[in-house]
Amino acid sequence: NRVDNPYVGAGVYVNPDWSAKAAAEPGGSRISNQPTGVWMDRIAAITGTTGARGLRAHLDTALVQAAGNPLVVQLVIYNLPGRDCAALASNGELGPTEIGRYRTEYIDPIAAILADTKYASLRIVTTVEIDSLPNLVTNVSPRVTATPQCDVMKANGNYITGVGYALNKLGAIPNVYNYVDAGHHGWIGWDDNFNASAQIFRQAATASGSVNNVAGFIVNTANYGATKENNFTINDSVAGKSVRESAWVDWNRYVDEQSFAQAFRQELISVGFNSDIGMLIDTSRNGWGGSARPAGPGATTTVDTYVDGGRYDRRIHLGNWCNQSGAGLGERPRSAPAAGIDAYVWMKPPGESDGSSSLIPNDQGKGFDRMCDPTYTGNPRNNNHMSGALGGAPISGAWFSAQFRQLMANAYPAL
Ligand code: BGC
Repeated sequence: NRVDNPYVGAGVYVNPDWSAKAAAEPGGSRISNQPTGVWMDRIAAITGTTGARGLRAHLDTALVQAAGNPLVVQLVIYNLPGRDCAALASNGELGPTEIGRYRTEYIDPIAAILADTKYASLRIVTTVEIDSLPNLVTNVSPRVTATPQCDVMKANGNYITGVGYALNKLGAIPNVYNYVDAGHHGWIGWDDNFNASAQIFRQAATASGSVNNVAGFIVNTANYGATKENNFTINDSVAGKSVRESAWVDWNRYVDEQSFAQAFRQELISVGFNSDIGMLIDTSRNGWGGSARPAGPGATTTVDTYVDGGRYDRRIHLGNWCNQSGAGLGERPRSAPAAGIDAYVWMKPPGESDGSSSLIPNDQGKGFDRMCDPTYTGNPRNNNHMSGALGGAPISGAWFSAQFRQLMANAYPAL
């Protein structure tokens, strides 16, 4: 009884906990009624933490918001053993070998709540394990981008086992729609990563279930890639050189998230996923409006002047991911915006930090990643560039007022 695209003809749940924080900021009421993702980012999130209601309370509130009409609730499943193996900012509470706890203390209790027939009328979208599986392709030995932690997670198989288990358990519930995290164009848009990532997703989907447990994939979660770069395409050439040879594009096959999502969808179908899968694009922070937004294409002097002068994405390097300075809210959430795309969504709640700018002790297992430090000069994963991060940030997930205000100021479309 699943529909093809759960977002069509349905409202989307507004998280009152996020909404209250947004509304408390000056001008925040312009967006505080937007739907955002509810992150189950630790075991305690299931029953509720300070300032965030638990899963049952969210679903009960969702039933009230639905008032008898179709409503999508967007949950983020995010607590793998050895979480965030290529970064430190969102390391989690479960160590690399704690797959047993992941099953029994995390996925099973979530599945038990979602399966309650009281919630059968809700369309529950679960986005499954952000920033996990592509790490097994790109951040493992012998690549220069390898981290010891990702080598461990590849060797012990617990990302694959965990995602497989989540898809199996959650996919068994008739009103749950699983969307697997598929990174973003600035990660798996390169030839070396594209098919290899699709294969890993298939392996995870079939690890303890079937491809039928996958409704689709989400791209750009909590990232900053533009939905569409209108001032250049991958097929352009300038002064005898392809755009792919520019420093910014650096041989990637894609220049933006929508072209990547549509092409990757085809790739996923070709490796065995169902032909009716749909893609989600997280547009929460990829607007890049404000005064720095180029009004038209860059100068055709070289490929670099052309790309750098025209691109909306103002990051110092495509590999920068933490609290990017200058970012703005992207397109407001809406259903079926383009072929193959089920919805634009705000899965990352705007205003919630990606990681602290300096070490802040905490009891969530979160580390300090220097990619969140504005003075950091980088590592192989951003080709040794400055981090581009906004300073003064709290730990990941915590409210970052200055970032929220900048996101509103640089929104595109403008608020
Ligand atoms: C954090 C989570 C948080 C999520 C949404 C992640 O980076 O690790 O704790 O819930 O972002 O803000």
